[in-house]
Amino acid sequence: MKREVSIIGSGFASLAASCYLAKSGYKVTIFEKNDRIGGRARQLQKEGFTFDMGPSWYWMPDVFERFFADFDKKPSDYYQLEKLNPAYKVFFGNNESITIEDTLEKIYSAFEKEETGSSIKLKKFIDQAQSNYKIAIEDLVYRPGVSPLELVTPETIRKIGQFFSTISKDVRKHFSNKKLIQILEFPVLFLGAKPSETPSFYSFMNYADFGLGTWHPQGGMYKVIEGIEKLAVSLGVEIRTNSPVDKINVLDKSVTSISVNGMEIATNLVVAGADYHHCERLLEPEFRQYSESFWDRKTFAPSSLLFYVGFDKKLKNINHHNLFFDVDFDAHTRDIYDDPKWPEEPLFYANFTSVTDENTAPENCENGFFLIPLAPGLQDTAELRETYFSIILERFERLTNQDVIKNIIFKESFCVNDFIEDYNSYKGNAYGMANTLLQTAFLRPKLKSSKVEGLFFTGQLTVPGPGVPPSLISGKLVSGLIQSS
Ligand SMILES: Cc1cc2nc3c(=O)[nH]c(=O)nc-3n(C[C@H](O)[C@H](O)[C@H](O)COP(=O)(O)OP(=O)(O)OC[C@H]3O[C@@H](n4cnc5c(N)ncnc54)[C@H](O)[C@@H]3O)c2cc1C
Repeated sequence: MKREVSIIGSGFASLAASCYLAKSGYKVTIFEKNDRIGGRARQLQKEGFTFDMGPSWYWMPDVFERFFADFDKKPSDYYQLEKLNPAYKVFFGNNESITIEDTLEKIYSAFEKEETGSSIKLKKFIDQAQSNYKIAIEDLVYRPGVSPLELVTPETIRKIGQFFSTISKDVRKHFSNKKLIQILEFPVLFLGAKPSETPSFYSFMNYADFGLGTWHPQGGMYKVIEGIEKLAVSLGVEIRTNSPVDKINVLDKSVTSISVNGMEIATNLVVAGADYHHCERLLEPEFRQYSESFWDRKTFAPSSLLFYVGFDKKLKNINHHNLFFDVDFDAHTRDIYDDPKWPEEPLFYANFTSVTDENTAPENCENGFFLIPLAPGLQDTAELRETYFSIILERFERLTNQDVIKNIIFKESFCVNDFIEDYNSYKGNAYGMANTLLQTAFLRPKLKSSKVEGLFFTGQLTVPGPGVPPSLISGKLVSGLIQSS
């Protein structure tokens, strides 16, 4: 008889785990609390506009290829990818910006234009980053974080110094131009910690950025969710939406059932793919591995204030992806990590997928996604959201030299309270637990419960970490552990 497994949540990690488990013969059911699958990668459709509610940067295309190849498929069986050129634009002030294009050669030239001699230094830096990428993304991240020995390889021993220095120090050793420093520190923000807390080994993110490029699935990131859903269903996975798991029931230290919408569903195997902290709270206290103070001590990735905005005209001077670094980078970082508070002058990010993908907005319109990173756990009120919307839209108008506020047809916002309400997110974090030195690999919350037989975890709070590619890998890792246990 087929062994059955119940998966909590339908984010990237859960969907990936479901595919691997179904392929190896398990009968898999996914229980998702919301009415739509995808978790933080859900989609919002309104008045002919389409928005990805969370992830928008499709980086590390090789990880997606490897995922689909495990099922003898390719990404192009499910969605069409385009390499963006330019990849993105960084605004540093009025008429001050740097555009990052789609090849290393073009990026070397952009650096050289900004600071003489910097292209040679960048080439050296990227060579190092590429070698780290090979070690990390093609090998280390596929290890399940069970033992510290997983990290000990001839390559990592050779690079040991890079685990104890930081990206921030490394970048500053090579570059003095402030703008170039910020561009090189930006990719590790995806790992959730500040560059001065992120080991220099993580420069592989710079190779992902400049070396592999920024891609866009036609129709948006949600096409990837739909692709994996299609794959999962074809493998026999059952997906139940509007099905919040309220309790994981345990007898004799083994999982016996889950409670969903007041019904008890028998199961001996559970993969908890919602936020780890929340899933542990579905257990009686004696079966939880980590205390409240454990979670409180951890460095969490930021939360965010997000706006999804419909404009009734095409906008000028923007690209698909845009970063607004025209204010003090370090001051905002301190407001996230050191002294959590709403930033006085926020950095922000905006994407307009309709610039390159006409399917995501009505004709002659633009869809705008605006993101301000914030410390998790901040007070979140309608007034604060409005204040910050005005701050960034006024700056946006000035920096891109156009009026847009009067062209807004609608806007929706999403912030700390929504992350908690919609995803049961710990303190409203947007993308999980940061990858600092002490929160890497075997030092992260474990994939397998040490207290309850038959209970496993997956997703951005466990190994390997935050982001869509790591979430796909997390699903593969948990499935491997289940099959070997
Ligand atoms: C604003 C934002 C921007 C981002 N940008 C990028 C980007 O550009 N590129 C990138 O690679 N990554 C990005 N990320 C990170 C990426 O989206 C996440 O790392 C990834 O989607 C996490 O997937 P997951 O499966 O771990 O969790 P989730 O997507 O959070 O899935 C967990 C699921 O569990 C469900 N759930 C919760 N509680 C229960 C319950 N009790 N019962 C049943 N179901 C439950 C939730 O509803 C959710 O569907 C971004 C994230 C955010 C929020």
